[in-house]
Amino acid sequence: MSTVEVVGCTKRYGALAALDEVSLKFKEGELFGLLGPSGSGKTTLLRAIAGFIDLDHGQVLLDGEDIRPVPVHKRDIGMVFQNYALFPHMTVFDNVAFGLSVRKMPAGEIKARVDEILGLVRLAGLQERKPKQLSGGQQQRVALARALVTRPKVLLLDEPLGALDKHLREEMQVELRRIQREVGITTIFVTHDQEEAMTLCDRIAIMNQGQIVQLGPPFEVYEHPTNRFAAGFLGVANFLEGRVASISGNEARIELKLGGEALAPADGYRAGDAALLAVRPEKIGLEPGSAVGVNRLTGSVIGAVFSGSSTTYRVQVGDQVVAVFQQNSAPRRFQPDDKVTLHWSPEHNVPVAP
Ligand code: ADP
Ligand code: MG
Repeated sequence: MSTVEVVGCTKRYGALAALDEVSLKFKEGELFGLLGPSGSGKTTLLRAIAGFIDLDHGQVLLDGEDIRPVPVHKRDIGMVFQNYALFPHMTVFDNVAFGLSVRKMPAGEIKARVDEILGLVRLAGLQERKPKQLSGGQQQRVALARALVTRPKVLLLDEPLGALDKHLREEMQVELRRIQREVGITTIFVTHDQEEAMTLCDRIAIMNQGQIVQLGPPFEVYEHPTNRFAAGFLGVANFLEGRVASISGNEARIELKLGGEALAPADGYRAGDAALLAVRPEKIGLEPGSAVGVNRLTGSVIGAVFSGSSTTYRVQVGDQVVAVFQQNSAPRRFQPDDKVTLHWSPEHNVPVAP
């Protein structure tokens, strides 16, 4: 198993920094998710690790060794992209064997390795098919087998499931996780799908404009976003603005712009500071009637979207629309125009940087 580390990586295209001083350490055997909107630099980072682009500055370390001088084909890195680019005229077997054939491996050994890896991705028996005789999911398994057959030290996946429909995608997510665990290979997985990243990955990093804005296990990043971008990108967040009225021990009392006040973790605040709190929709409870107070706001329901197990409400509170997510075991349902009180616990006010 191997570690990958990028240190101070910067890549500019004219005035635009596709990567802006990115430093990240990928641990041995982990499945690491790179998450961010389109254009945030995810592919550029993978391509820099793979060796397809030259960085302006920074280092790429594989097991501690700077591999920037090492050409792509000697980096011992496997890759799968969204457009898997299998050779259409070649069989599954030949597609997978390709990387071994060019290395001039003896035929017997190639066959053993290809059979083994096709078993792993559950394609045994389909060796003689051509790519167009396979489903999208099967083609993607061939691409994965092809990337793994050379036993690379690191696996880079750039939106590998992006072209699959929802059902197939979920099936492949499970498969991907299983295969990654079985092989134990350090894997960097790019996706713009936040749920996919949270479900699959040991740790995630959120990128924006060429920078890492937050890094950690999915649960940590979701529950404790440190800045507005991360809070809003990973899941849904309501943002409450206010000013710190006083601090008492570990608790800050914040006067909210929407009226009322919030108790929140003090988190480095001082009296008089501007405060920005992120509150997740599922942390907010609803009850009928109007009662402003501590961690209580009143508003009027403007939308209720029922989706089976849950309902998502939009509640107009002053000039802001607050999202509230309720399991359908909640004691009652609300309709548009209902006057409601929103309430939540102090620990669910997460102070974030603007
Ligand atoms: P992502 O994969 O997160 O969508 P990319 O890494 O592909 O983002 O791109 C990051 C930024 O760099 C984007 O603004 C993109 O337009 C720009 N970019 C990427 N490659 C090139 C290139 N070869 N020439 C000019 N700009 C590029
Ligand atoms: Mg990309």
